[in-house]
Amino acid sequence: MKNVTHWIAGNPVEGSGRTSEIFNPATGEVSGQVHLASVAEVDTAVAAAVAAYPAWRDSSLVKRSQVLFRFRELMYANRDELARLISEEHGKVHSDALGEVARGLEVVEFACGIPHLLKGGFSEGVSTRVDSYSIRQPLGVVAGITPFNFPAMVPMWMYPIAIAAGNAFILKPSEKDPSASLLMASLWKQAGLPDGIFSVVQGDKVAVDRLLEHPDVRAVSFVGSTPIARYVYETGTAHGKRVQALGGAKNHMLVLPDADLDLVADAAVSAGFGSAGERCMAISVVLAVDPVGDELVDKIVSRVSALTIGPGDDPASQMGPLVTRVHRDKVVSYLDVGVAEGAKLVVDGRRTPVLGGTAAEDTPGFWLGPTVLDHVPAGSRVQQEEIFGPVLTIVRVSSYEEGVELINGGEFGNGTAVFTNDGGAARRFQNEVEVGMIGINVPIPVPMAFYSFGGWKSSLFGDTHVHGTEGVHFYTRGKVVTSRWLDPSHGGVNLGFPTNK
Ligand code: NAD
Repeated sequence: MKNVTHWIAGNPVEGSGRTSEIFNPATGEVSGQVHLASVAEVDTAVAAAVAAYPAWRDSSLVKRSQVLFRFRELMYANRDELARLISEEHGKVHSDALGEVARGLEVVEFACGIPHLLKGGFSEGVSTRVDSYSIRQPLGVVAGITPFNFPAMVPMWMYPIAIAAGNAFILKPSEKDPSASLLMASLWKQAGLPDGIFSVVQGDKVAVDRLLEHPDVRAVSFVGSTPIARYVYETGTAHGKRVQALGGAKNHMLVLPDADLDLVADAAVSAGFGSAGERCMAISVVLAVDPVGDELVDKIVSRVSALTIGPGDDPASQMGPLVTRVHRDKVVSYLDVGVAEGAKLVVDGRRTPVLGGTAAEDTPGFWLGPTVLDHVPAGSRVQQEEIFGPVLTIVRVSSYEEGVELINGGEFGNGTAVFTNDGGAARRFQNEVEVGMIGINVPIPVPMAFYSFGGWKSSLFGDTHVHGTEGVHFYTRGKVVTSRWLDPSHGGVNLGFPTNK
């Protein structure tokens, strides 16, 4: 049985009170326990971070960058082990877990360039013999609170840049799949990061609330569901912190009649069912513009029927189970909701065999196969609410305009995609759609590390997206210095407002 501890001041630290069970989603069995931090345990982690921060802040840019380079090599060397830990607690297949590590590593690679990223500007002679320059400095202790669906990648959106910029970082991972956080912590130590600069507090609302209230925590990055994102944003900012809080999603893919339907079907199935639909950038709604609906649904169904679901550690599996029983049951409940709303259940994932054996609903573990709901009415719950599982819904629309109206009418604005060969239509789409991340013939348009990731509307609270230049800005504060070397020409008393001379 695993015993997942905190990581404070460079060492694993047992909790002193509550714990939560960790499951193997493929079998439904308990595989271990994770400690849930008390207020005092969070305070200990923050105190260690406060103590470590000044020396790290003052270490040179090049030294910090060298630690990042070493961390990058260690993470790369340990990627299989990291992926194994993710897969056994989250349920996603090993290759998919390797993919999230690879995308997280891109942010580490970006942060290795911190000496360049923190370069300020210098203007010589803004007034006579007066110069101006800008610098950016770290904030101090910052925290990241992360969801279950990417236990490595989402923390890696945050901590490489926060740490490279000179901050001390405290991670509060999801209690559902917490083991990856400890492996990452031990690799930071091996890379030479001073103790206290990367800490992990395992936990739930108690830990989150303490981080949001603690006076020594300067900024909070959050990724998770919309109600908690809103709460974290409101509570953190009420306590004077800088907060970026990324929430849920409902991503639509608009298919115009000129698109190649085989490529569209490949993209819809890959983006809808990868990671069992538990991705904030998963495609969950296909908007098929007339007259392509019937042909497209046939192509999607034939691909879905060929998918193999099974445990994440079996190389034959293309899709694993859902993360918990509660989540699986919630996702399954949407099948009845959809049918009651008038949709047609064309593929029922409850009946999908697990590795060619028993049906998903009869197999121990948290199983649901890929499910397709067709003729979903516009405005229905299954079209609008985040299901976060392997359920692809298809809505027939009569025009481009009707499709865009449905996308823009929704609560979320995380990702979307248009499939077309018409460049003018694609350009119009990117201009008109009220969504933060847009794919043109790309179904999961996750920005690269050197751009910033974030949605609009209820998919993001705050105004700064994660990683890329916006990430550097989030974890630093700007200063502008105006300087002159004393010179007789500057003499004389003048009570007027300083103006350019
Ligand atoms: P969640 O909101 O349940 O949990 C996220 C974090 O908040 C976890 O660390 C959890 O311990 C903590 N938390 C949960 N309930 C809390 C409470 N009442 N008070 C304080 N903290 C609490 O999300 P999840 O189920 O782990 O992740 C799935 C959600 O995350 C989906 O909605 C998905 O769309 C979203 N997500 C969004 C993005 C994005 O970039 N926008 C990326 C990944 C996941």
